[in-house]
Amino acid sequence: MHEFSIAQNICKKILKVAENEGATSIEKIKIKIGIFTHINKNQLIFCIESIAESKEILEDVKIKVKKGAAKIRCKCGNFWEVDASKDGNMIDNTRFLKCPKCNSRDVDITGGKCVTLESVEVEV
Ligand SMILES: [Zn+2]
Repeated sequence: MHEFSIAQNICKKILKVAENEGATSIEKIKIKIGIFTHINKNQLIFCIESIAESKEILEDVKIKVKKGAAKIRCKCGNFWEVDASKDGNMIDNTRFLKCPKCNSRDVDITGGKCVTLESVEVEV
């Protein structure tokens, strides 16, 4: 399960932050999922929560997940962003991959392909 290994990585990072800060508990984390990652948001949250259950420091963590925008560049020089703020489980990725200016499908995705841990709020 892809989401589980990402959840593990995120938890590892959070615990590292908590350790560095000398935190007693982790309050809130914010995660950004690029829309081209095919990561299921609910599944990711579920995985983090199930890892958090076994760690006292993560007991009360609130998980915020938002979809990150994708940046796309066309060979004609046009550059645009796909706003992914509208939440949907499955985004039809391919429909974005056409240049609105020249209708070319010869485009490069330059953003939206990773999962980022945006912020960690801890209680010291
Ligand atoms: Zn174009």
